[in-house]
Amino acid sequence: MSDSSIEKHARVFAAPKTDSEGRQNLIGLSKDELISLLQEYQVPGFRAKQVWHWIYQRGVKSFDEMGNIPKDMKAFMNDRFSIGRPSVETEQKSKDGTIKWLLKLDDGQLVETVFIPEKTRGTLCISSQIGCTLTCKFCHTGTQPLVRNLGPHELLQQIMHARDVLNEWPSTAAKEGGRDFTNIVLMGMGEPLYNYENVAKAMKICMDDDGLCISKRRITLSTSGLVPLITRCGEELNVNLAISLHAVNDELRSDIMPINKKYPLKELMQACRDYPLDKKRRITFEYVMLKDINDRDEDAHQLVKLIGDIPAKINLIPFNEWPGSEFACSDRSRIEKFSKILRDKGMDAPIRKTRGDDILAACGQLKSASKRYKK
Ligand code: SAH
Ligand code: SF4
Repeated sequence: MSDSSIEKHARVFAAPKTDSEGRQNLIGLSKDELISLLQEYQVPGFRAKQVWHWIYQRGVKSFDEMGNIPKDMKAFMNDRFSIGRPSVETEQKSKDGTIKWLLKLDDGQLVETVFIPEKTRGTLCISSQIGCTLTCKFCHTGTQPLVRNLGPHELLQQIMHARDVLNEWPSTAAKEGGRDFTNIVLMGMGEPLYNYENVAKAMKICMDDDGLCISKRRITLSTSGLVPLITRCGEELNVNLAISLHAVNDELRSDIMPINKKYPLKELMQACRDYPLDKKRRITFEYVMLKDINDRDEDAHQLVKLIGDIPAKINLIPFNEWPGSEFACSDRSRIEKFSKILRDKGMDAPIRKTRGDDILAACGQLKSASKRYKK
């Protein structure tokens, strides 16, 4: 995708900047942006830094809670700006502890966020877009047309909402351990690299020690394979990368993932080879197990060849069915055999445990009831 088409895409699908009362949400502005915005109103830089601290380190939801901010400034801030969260439309808890929230954004659009607790960590799966422009055949989100991108504030609000619910402020304590919420995956609704600018802005605040304090090693971005942006993401964010691979040859991949026609496997694998990885880091390849489509022994052997010497982990994902899907999940014994072939060749190939399936919170099942704008 050329730079100009990325810009056009960002413009057409932009998130609204103000709430229903015309107030600008300050979440998502970089520290410098916040300082210069408030400077326009003669607020000194040190006050802007205090506001930043209250927002990201302490997690307050209103200016009134900002202890060291003068009363008249609070009143002025309340008139023009907000730092609120989306409202919770629904909260569903699975019997395995997974929580799925449907969050209502300022313009009434709905977005899904899922928290998955495990013994040694807790992962928040956030959405990057409402709907998706891509139409991967096995994915429920792919049946919903793209409504719009999420703004940096809406990406961050999902994370801040989880911290609110789990009672895990202040941010500095995130480094001390003992937290339920430790990791973030960009694996909810949407293709994060089609909303790169906003995702990058939000992740920079997330990774900042003065921001939400979540290290890049604890953030994983999953993409269907937008090659030029994988390269940018490596240079600028260098978070963990997960590739939705799902097929080992171009013919099948282009059929089930149309993005492959634009960025075929050869280019995709080269981008993975070039992705900057520090010691001990690996690229995750996601491989959804589709009965009689991509699950033969031959496919497993081909997969080993395709990945070659890229430091990798292969997540085998049992296909999660959704109403109207045209695929079935491979039998358990088939998935185990597939995994064994990979492991015998020295690859790390765990079978992903499906979480939250009783509340339709599993991979590829998210599809909010949001409506498309009339354009
Ligand atoms: N758009 C990004 C991230 C969101 S999808 C991407 O495609 O990577 C998150 C993961 O769920 C992807 O690996 C996707 O391929 C997988 N997925 C989609 N539908 C699925 C389904 N029905 N069952 C299992 N995994 C699915
Ligand atoms: Fe979009 Fe990812 Fe679903 Fe494909 S798998 S339709 S890229 S959300």
